[in-house]
Amino acid sequence: MSFQAIVAPEPGPAALRELSDSDLPEGDVTVAVSHSSLNYKDGLAVSGGGRIARSYPMVCGIDLAGVVEQSDSLAWLPGDEVLITGWGLSESHPGGYTERQRVRSEWLMPRPAAFSPQQCMAIGTAGLTAMLCVLALEHAGLPAESELVVTGAGGGVGGIAITLLAGLGHNVAASTGRTELHDYLRSLGAASIVAREELAQPSKPLESARWDGAIDTVGSQTLASVLARTRYRGAVAACGRAGGTDLPTSVAPFILRGVSLLGIDSVMCPAQLRAAAWSRLEHDLSAQRLDAMTTVEPLSRVPELAEEILAGRIRGRVVIETAG
Ligand code: NDP
Repeated sequence: MSFQAIVAPEPGPAALRELSDSDLPEGDVTVAVSHSSLNYKDGLAVSGGGRIARSYPMVCGIDLAGVVEQSDSLAWLPGDEVLITGWGLSESHPGGYTERQRVRSEWLMPRPAAFSPQQCMAIGTAGLTAMLCVLALEHAGLPAESELVVTGAGGGVGGIAITLLAGLGHNVAASTGRTELHDYLRSLGAASIVAREELAQPSKPLESARWDGAIDTVGSQTLASVLARTRYRGAVAACGRAGGTDLPTSVAPFILRGVSLLGIDSVMCPAQLRAAAWSRLEHDLSAQRLDAMTTVEPLSRVPELAEEILAGRIRGRVVIETAG
């Protein structure tokens, strides 16, 4: 059987290709993929600029949702609705921008009852990451009704993080470089807006304390500025690098204000923590707000969308419909 997929044949850009069952990788479960999603890392992988794939040819797409077609695993039966985020899809194992994929059974999780397959991919890696940030902040002792800032607010992780934190009763400042998104960010629950440039400017390691905590998707000077403005014993969950991978600060925020820097990884996140995060997403994430930040696009537009997300022009979440 032949099917469509977004494939990087070698280091460089990926494109729509026709594959057949003989191209499927090793694995014990074959999934009829219905949806995937667009994340910043997908932009890097599809454009070929980010050295994401570790072998070639590689099917891109770090997330997938669909229905089990064939299973050699006792854990899954044909007809089960499943999803995967991360676990090396599009890096060390072919990913979700395809109509069919063979995967390892231990990466699969059942579709959460509260969400449709499309909504599961609207959440995807971005939503899981946002929830892992919230859980880490709570674990660090975030008080109720805290004041927080979310950077890269117009993006996927940022939008879901704002919705979650506002829904939990926190006062959220959204940092964005796009004035046209102010109304949208307020509709997700942001109480105030901070201009991206304000945090992108060089700052001292300690500035006037302003927030109890933060979720940072930008890195570099933005993360340093956020750390400098975090109150005594506050915490910052750092998950992204949309603005760079460096961190121009000193130890001052950590040793003089007791600020905690919490590193977040969603790719190899242990299954137990993933399950806890998805359970909280089912409980805490407003499906209505999720739908309001989601657009749906066909597989054929992925190469174009990859350029858009790297240019910072995507708003919220993009779901990719993989079935032709
Ligand atoms: P998006 O592209 O959807 O969002 C990123 C946002 O960052 C943009 O919308 C923009 O927001 C802002 N931004 C973009 N470029 C710059 C820049 N040069 N300087 C400052 N701000 C910028 O990406 P995602 O939400 O999918 O991912 C966000 C980040 O988190 C990425 O770096 C990604 O790699 C990382 N990530 C990490 C994960 C992990 O497991 N650690 C998992 C998922 C994502 P605005 O226009 O509003 O300013």
